[in-house]
Amino acid sequence: MSIGDTAIIERAGLDDLIEVLRARGFRVIGPRLRDGAIVLDDLESGQELPVGWGIESSPGRYRVFRRADEAVFAHSAGPGSWKQFLHPPRRKVWQTGPDLSLQTPDEPREPLALLGVRGCDLAAIAVLCRVLDGAEGQGPASAAARRGLFVIAVNCTEPGGVCFCASMGTGPAAGAGYDLALTERIDESGHRFLVEVGSAAGEAILSALVTRSAPPAELADARAAVTAAADRMGRAMPDVDVRAVIAESRESPRWDEIASRCLTCANCTMVCPTCFCTSTEDLTDLTGDHAERWERWASCFELDFSYLHGGSVRRSGAARYRQWLSHKLSTWYDQFGTSGCVGCGRCIAWCPASIDLTVEVARFAADVGNPP
Ligand code: SF4
Ligand code: SF4
Repeated sequence: MSIGDTAIIERAGLDDLIEVLRARGFRVIGPRLRDGAIVLDDLESGQELPVGWGIESSPGRYRVFRRADEAVFAHSAGPGSWKQFLHPPRRKVWQTGPDLSLQTPDEPREPLALLGVRGCDLAAIAVLCRVLDGAEGQGPASAAARRGLFVIAVNCTEPGGVCFCASMGTGPAAGAGYDLALTERIDESGHRFLVEVGSAAGEAILSALVTRSAPPAELADARAAVTAAADRMGRAMPDVDVRAVIAESRESPRWDEIASRCLTCANCTMVCPTCFCTSTEDLTDLTGDHAERWERWASCFELDFSYLHGGSVRRSGAARYRQWLSHKLSTWYDQFGTSGCVGCGRCIAWCPASIDLTVEVARFAADVGNPP
């Protein structure tokens, strides 16, 4: 086997893959069912995978349901993203004591294996790494995690109701950046995975598993299933120059209309796999001989986020929603050369007000005389 080659592993081979990765020192992270959602967490064995669970999602709604089959990856994005492992929600930057010497916490050393990364999330990892790698003061925790990353992507055949990765060019097939890519196949021939090798590291891991060759028909069927998934996405980003539409809409009264529905709860930024903003907090104890500095995720929907001397710059919900959408879909290009949105749909499913950025962009586009 070499890079670009494909093979088949049987269903049991997926459990073996987790074992092989763990035996080689990886901390394996993948999907698990918990509290009525598919979350991403440590996997000690294949027994913990969400076998037979699917997802129903629509604006403001996310539900798991029992499927008729034993599919492992037939669920679209859940509330958590891989961001939490690359850019932790909260981390201690340093602590100090009476001698005022700064101690920085030990960083995790074990390499991470990410199992079940969909095309949209693979793109999100690339976007996030580009942002963090260029950021001044980048924390060593995220860099250490990225250094040992082993990515097992999944070509999506079961898109959800809020997915629109096809229209963002990030899915349903996984793009570049994976070590191995799986396509799950369940039919009268059994339950198995087509595996594509993306790197030498992937080749080495696959060589430790029992594989069989993939007949051309199997390859064609798997590709067709992924292509068909693109036509079953719940929605699409309007086919307009989104960057220009948002830039032209800066003074639109529509921001106020959206703000009349938006709760400024920040859910959309917390679930977004590319939102990266943080805030810094300094803590002391009552004795005065211990202090800590922490970094935590922050959101442009927080009033304090735009605090300068004298008060917050973005006091209204309209200003804060405009900041989020404009950055994500327009000015992100100026900063990072790419869109800040990969079409995962999380912000739509987890918005308590059912605000859907694809719908809002279509309205802005119509307002500026450029309907989709
Ligand atoms: S758009 Fe939705 S998720 Fe985002 S802050 Fe407003 S109400 Fe919350
Ligand atoms: S803006 Fe929404 S759809 Fe786009 S990447 Fe973020 S959470 Fe996903």
